[in-house]
Amino acid sequence: MLRIVMNKVHRTAWAAPLIFALSGLVGGCSTAPSSPPAKLPLATKTETGLKIEQGANSLGSEARRGPIQVLVLHHTGGNLAGSYDVLQGKQSNHRVGIHYLVTDEQPPRVIAMVPENKVAYHAGKSGWRQFESLNQNSIGIEIINLDGNIHPYAPGQKDVIVKLCADILRRNPTIAPTEVLAHSDIAVGRKIDPGLLFPWAELSAQKIGAWPLPEDVAAFSKTAPTANAAELRRLLLTYGYAVEAGDRGLHLAIEAFQRHFRPRKVDGVADPETVATLRALVKRYRTTATVPSPAPLVPTAPRPAKVGKIKP
Ligand SMILES: [Zn+2]
Repeated sequence: MLRIVMNKVHRTAWAAPLIFALSGLVGGCSTAPSSPPAKLPLATKTETGLKIEQGANSLGSEARRGPIQVLVLHHTGGNLAGSYDVLQGKQSNHRVGIHYLVTDEQPPRVIAMVPENKVAYHAGKSGWRQFESLNQNSIGIEIINLDGNIHPYAPGQKDVIVKLCADILRRNPTIAPTEVLAHSDIAVGRKIDPGLLFPWAELSAQKIGAWPLPEDVAAFSKTAPTANAAELRRLLLTYGYAVEAGDRGLHLAIEAFQRHFRPRKVDGVADPETVATLRALVKRYRTTATVPSPAPLVPTAPRPAKVGKIKP
């Protein structure tokens, strides 16, 4: 049952480590992955008092060629031992990596695995605004949660995530609030993490990430609660979503939007609340006066072949 849930949740990335972890448990295999040591060297202590430990390096990384403009949040879909093992990128056919791992221990720990000045392989096939592959332009955080659509994030994890995001955003002021994103935002129709229970609204109250103004949502609910397909597509594209062609593409993009901004009902249907929320976000963040000028486009052509094999 667990395996079925895992496959449903993360679809591809974490099936292997989970099976590996389970086989280790069942068979008592001595090569089963192990959790990070309880005592790791301290990489840094932030202004907010957050301790970041230095974990194992990851082979799922490479030199960074583009500006950092996006922060991507994930849930692992696997336990700590399996996730820590996989994120070291040792499997040549499954090279993944991450900048930071937030554990589910009590209290949660933050473990650095790839330095911010390098690219970590965490986004996979992805798109957002002018970016076609987000690895080059992003920092990634993996949070241990078997399924953020089912299991609430622990209060301790929320506090740590807020501090970690604040620290990253302080160091990287080029990341706008609208570019603090879910994996599901940038991999529309492919990923559903960090899940419906990720506390986006709470984070935005701490100045992390974007959120619509309630008064704007209320106003649009009265004045413009509907939109035809062409306008919906334009609004979603304006906000940043990569909307594929056709009705199916639009449906999936609406679903991705709802996962982040209206998780109460994710059905791909642009009901009045969804439309009003989308209009309010575009008004707040994507009007001409408020859109930050994007950094120069990163050349995406000469990617090494191995990147294509990553399934994060
Ligand atoms: Zn993910």
